[in-house]
Amino acid sequence: MNNKFVKVGLAGLLAASLAACSNQPAQQTPSTAPEAGNSGVYEVKGTGYGGEMNLKVTIADQKITDIELVDSHETNVVIDRAFPVMKERILEANSPVVDNVSAATFSSFGVKSAVADAMKQAGMDVEEITMTTQGPEKPASQREAETCDIVIVGGGPAGLAAAIGAKQTNANANVIVVEKLDILSGNGKFDMNFFDIINTEAQKKAGNEEWTVNQVENFIESKKDTGESAERIEVWANEENELDAWLRAMGVELNYNYGGTNHMAEDNQYSGEVIQAGLEKQAKELGVDIRTGTKGEELILDGKDVTGVKVTNNDNESYDIQAQAVIIATGGFCSNKELLAEYAPGYEIMNTSNQMGTTGDYVKIFEANGYKMENMGKMSVFANIIVPRRDLTGGADMNLLVNKEGELLANASGLDRAKMIQSQTDGAAYYITDKTGYDSFYRIRKHVGLGYYAEGKTLDELAAALSIDAAGLKASVEQYNADAEAGAENAVLGKVPSRALDAEGPFYGVRVEAANHMTKGGVAANEKAQVLFEDGSVVTGLYAAGEVTSQTGGYSQSVVFGKVAGENAAAALK
Ligand SMILES: Cc1cc2nc3c(=O)[nH]c(=O)nc-3n(C[C@H](O)[C@H](O)[C@H](O)COP(=O)(O)OP(=O)(O)OC[C@H]3O[C@@H](n4cnc5c(N)ncnc54)[C@H](O)[C@@H]3O)c2cc1C
Repeated sequence: MNNKFVKVGLAGLLAASLAACSNQPAQQTPSTAPEAGNSGVYEVKGTGYGGEMNLKVTIADQKITDIELVDSHETNVVIDRAFPVMKERILEANSPVVDNVSAATFSSFGVKSAVADAMKQAGMDVEEITMTTQGPEKPASQREAETCDIVIVGGGPAGLAAAIGAKQTNANANVIVVEKLDILSGNGKFDMNFFDIINTEAQKKAGNEEWTVNQVENFIESKKDTGESAERIEVWANEENELDAWLRAMGVELNYNYGGTNHMAEDNQYSGEVIQAGLEKQAKELGVDIRTGTKGEELILDGKDVTGVKVTNNDNESYDIQAQAVIIATGGFCSNKELLAEYAPGYEIMNTSNQMGTTGDYVKIFEANGYKMENMGKMSVFANIIVPRRDLTGGADMNLLVNKEGELLANASGLDRAKMIQSQTDGAAYYITDKTGYDSFYRIRKHVGLGYYAEGKTLDELAAALSIDAAGLKASVEQYNADAEAGAENAVLGKVPSRALDAEGPFYGVRVEAANHMTKGGVAANEKAQVLFEDGSVVTGLYAAGEVTSQTGGYSQSVVFGKVAGENAAAALK
């Protein structure tokens, strides 16, 4: 590590430390190693998920008084949420020996080890930091039960939308959100495309008639074969119709419509970044009591009615939250291989694009209570996630998938794609595109810009950068281009290539794998987001929304039915 003690701007701190430490030199230059007991600002480095992190750690009289993250290559939607939590923990403990921020283990390690380094330079005692270093164990304890009007389990898109919907319906409602991770917004904060939304400012600007004129009818028509009930589709359509206005009222603008119902915040900004920041802000402003690091467990029942939920927090305190309504918005179960093996056998061989919270904590509870579960084996697999970062990539107007030998791989999807890739040398496959592909889609430009893709001016250079066989790659491209030019079917792909690869570089490539992306099955909920028993009757006091339910859509549908759940739960309060 390349550490440096910085004197610049430290007059006050140095004076303070001089008073406390008589052998402190009167003057230090930036290159002078600090003596034991030194106060000052230490420029230190840590290694996070994306590589090097640069931090400034202020130490005064053996106390860590400030930590600044100068720069990092961490995923911004994670580090922006995780760093303040980590900083608070370290400052409070005056030590980096604290619990990692969940869903940000690598970033936590980077920050903690950098702080430990600064402390060592300041002559403070500190233990070696590893990836598994945690704070002192907390003994289990039982806290007094609490009562509120509505308790929401899960602080992702559906849970936050539910909280806002509830408070907007009844401002006096006492609403608690419990989120088991230390940061909010679930998978939503990673999302690029907010689709299914209709009647938007961006669609109107783009002249996208189909979704701005007769849009509700068109939406209903487009969803009629999804298997969702007609009542749910109608509510879904009407809510999507109002959603842009609802989001804009809280300052969330989706200004980029790139065809159909597809939206990003801007042409160079993912939707989830902006929507989730907006939902978090709005929920806080409306006075929702948000408790991160608090896991929802068993439901509390009175006969068959749901009257609350048991929770356990990071301090290992367990308590009951009694409520008139419980809304479960815990997402799917892509992160739980045991449940995958049971409900979608075979899919457990894949990694997932999901953050760690999607473990299906309520699946067994729902089943034990006799609630209706639907489509549990239905999966959505994302074709290309970056190894090992797990960001979703792809979407260029054209790409080749090749193996280590440079051989073209078939255009398989779903579980077949995962099996095909896993059967290659080292289980490796590479997504290759060119400058035209780069220009065609923002996600590729973003990932190239972030350095996730290898680049080559020639195919030889690209092959070298990816450590794949150059001769094999060139032979595959030659055949592919010949087929494209002749309008002939490519033997591997079983179709005529849409176009040839650019004659000249730059070319781009990245190692990818197919991954479990969304579980489409879950507990059945009606058009009011009420959970149903196996016989179709309503479970009193229980609502569910988002990926925890059986739903055909994604992000936007999760927000819609979260909002619907919150509104209906609040409207039913006595
Ligand atoms: C990388 C990535 C990119 C995606 N991109 C898109 C996209 O572009 N467009 C699209 O439509 N969809 C996309 N999706 C899918 C979309 O993110 C989900 O459909 C959406 O986030 C579902 O929202 P949710 O609130 O139901 O669940 P989640 O986002 O999973 O949130 C659930 C929350 O509940 C918490 N939780 C779980 N169990 C408990 C418990 N026991 N107690 C307390 N809290 C709990 C979790 O920690 C999590 O924070 C993407 C998914 C991923 C992983």
